[in-house]
Amino acid sequence: MTERHVNWFALEKACAAHACPVCTIVGERTAKYIDNMLFEHVSDRGFRAVYREAGGFCPTHSANLDSWRDGLAVAILGVDVLSSFMPEFKKRKAPRRKGLCPACAESGRVEREFLGYIAERDEEDFVSFFTASGGLCVPHYARLLSLTRRVPRWLSDFQASAFEVLLARSSAFIECSAWGRQSDFSALPERDKTVWKELARALRGNA
Ligand SMILES: [Zn+2]
Ligand SMILES: [Zn+2]
Repeated sequence: MTERHVNWFALEKACAAHACPVCTIVGERTAKYIDNMLFEHVSDRGFRAVYREAGGFCPTHSANLDSWRDGLAVAILGVDVLSSFMPEFKKRKAPRRKGLCPACAESGRVEREFLGYIAERDEEDFVSFFTASGGLCVPHYARLLSLTRRVPRWLSDFQASAFEVLLARSSAFIECSAWGRQSDFSALPERDKTVWKELARALRGNA
């Protein structure tokens, strides 16, 4: 047996959760990255420059900064950004972000690494735990298709059937929601009554 990569185990664990495994991993890794940057790299000139160029983290990745446990790190980075905006504001101009949010860059890197890893798998036990999960969300499957032309057959078949099932359940939800079909609606399995939530999450992804 070939030695298993650390990514294998990360995916095996993420597949046991209900969400898209790549969303789960990207979410965890990005949170860890932000934490690490704030704790370890706040005095790192390289990171400070990248952060300032980007105008700070994007709204998604700065969502929790105001409740971060280290106020000093948040203040240091924030002062850099706001003071870099001031000359523009004094000219009554909107400052422009010149770089990508560093956490978006990191999440893109993790995403590419894991999607590439999945696309190379054909081991029976990998296929077995992966196809027992909910599969990739729509954005991650689309991203995988744009990253590689060598999508394994087991994966494209699995994703297609997962999306077909979701479509059929969502269509049944819509039909049973019509006036006069209350009894059909009550007969739907419990999880099909809220399938629109699953559909919204599949289309959006969680990363
Ligand atoms: Zn996803
Ligand atoms: Zn971001």
